[in-house]
Amino acid sequence: MTRQQHLDDLFAFLRIPSISTDSARRDDLQRCASWLAEKFTVSGLRAKLHQTPGHPVVTARNRHRAGRRTVLIYGHYDVQPVDPLTLWRSDPFEPALGAGGVITARGATDNKGQILAHLLGAAESIAADGDLPLNVIFLVEGEEEIGSPHLAEFLRAHRADLACDVVAISDTGMIEPGRGTLTYGLRGIACLEVTVSGPDKDLHSGLFGGAVANPLTVIARLVATLHDAGGRVAISGFYDDVAPLAQWERDAWSKLPLTDTGLLKLTGAPALAPEQGYTALECTWGRPTAELNGLHGGYQGEGSKTVIPADAHAKLSFRLVPDQQPGKILSLAAAHLRKHCPSGVTLTVTPGHSGAAYLLDPAAPFAQAARRALTLAFPGKAPALVREGGSIPIVSDFKKILGVDTLLLGLALPDARIHSPNETFTVENFEAGIRLNQILLRELAR
Ligand SMILES: [Zn+2]
Repeated sequence: MTRQQHLDDLFAFLRIPSISTDSARRDDLQRCASWLAEKFTVSGLRAKLHQTPGHPVVTARNRHRAGRRTVLIYGHYDVQPVDPLTLWRSDPFEPALGAGGVITARGATDNKGQILAHLLGAAESIAADGDLPLNVIFLVEGEEEIGSPHLAEFLRAHRADLACDVVAISDTGMIEPGRGTLTYGLRGIACLEVTVSGPDKDLHSGLFGGAVANPLTVIARLVATLHDAGGRVAISGFYDDVAPLAQWERDAWSKLPLTDTGLLKLTGAPALAPEQGYTALECTWGRPTAELNGLHGGYQGEGSKTVIPADAHAKLSFRLVPDQQPGKILSLAAAHLRKHCPSGVTLTVTPGHSGAAYLLDPAAPFAQAARRALTLAFPGKAPALVREGGSIPIVSDFKKILGVDTLLLGLALPDARIHSPNETFTVENFEAGIRLNQILLRELAR
């Protein structure tokens, strides 16, 4: 296939407005899944379109042979909404090829360009060699942007068919153009909602103020106990299971082009406030946090209203690192809140969604294979080894349900504007991704 044919395929894929959150686009999601299944089929893979209670899942595989390793390549064909449309310089679903080989379209990087690069890499290998060097399963879903509500169920139902040795995903970032990047760690998450209830109705603060506890004041004091004066989380036992950062990673991270100055600029905050003894980057990738995400109650309208609110609410989340267990952290947090809650109010703590942190040893055999592949696909620079502060729940699902590790080989450039207007992908990274898949399969087979 020529470069032009690769681009034609990508543009056809990008033209389908597969916005998963928009129920009016249901048919487009189906059409996109069918397009993908057809693309796998003409590439020489056996494809299957699986209906789910939501949008379809597409799987494809080569002829599996006993005695070979199996890799599962995961991606998603759904995209984020495009609004505000007025900020787009061109139609989000009519890909535009601009100067420097920059393609602008919704889904260009996240994730159509990246998953298609894997597909076309496999197609090229099959065209050249008649087969792939190991057993390959593609799993491409249409609900990633809405939290993959049916994927875990799909993995459980098809566990035998999806049995593999390792998962590969290209849906994370590259540290800088031209430098392969392996993401070997992700933080976990645990969410909590807190309600403090007082009187059975909002009260006049003149008639009753001073006689009863104000739930809003109580919750403010309560959330303030979550951190000590130095900013460390004050929940007893919170740090007990935290795996310390290794010296090699602190050294490696300090050499990455991600400086405090850069972070300061990215955040727009007046100053950084890292935990004592750690750089801001170390705090986002390798240290746990307790965050207050929302606090509400009482009167929010114009002017004043002298009221003692009946209740007050807080939304909390914890970003977790290895080896903290989300369930344990939620219990510790609930116990902390109960201990610090004064009498005169009722406290309700409701746990929300959670997922453990993920850490892959970059020296493990499959990670070494991924690093060799990244070095060959992006020659001239040793691949960057990074973690991410966010969480990718599917990675824990692959570990939990299929029992395998995930290699995160991202092709998203820092300025790709994923989820934002004018999302881009470069022809350079698209072609590198096609090469990367070919080399990766060879290296994983070794
Ligand atoms: Zn996304």
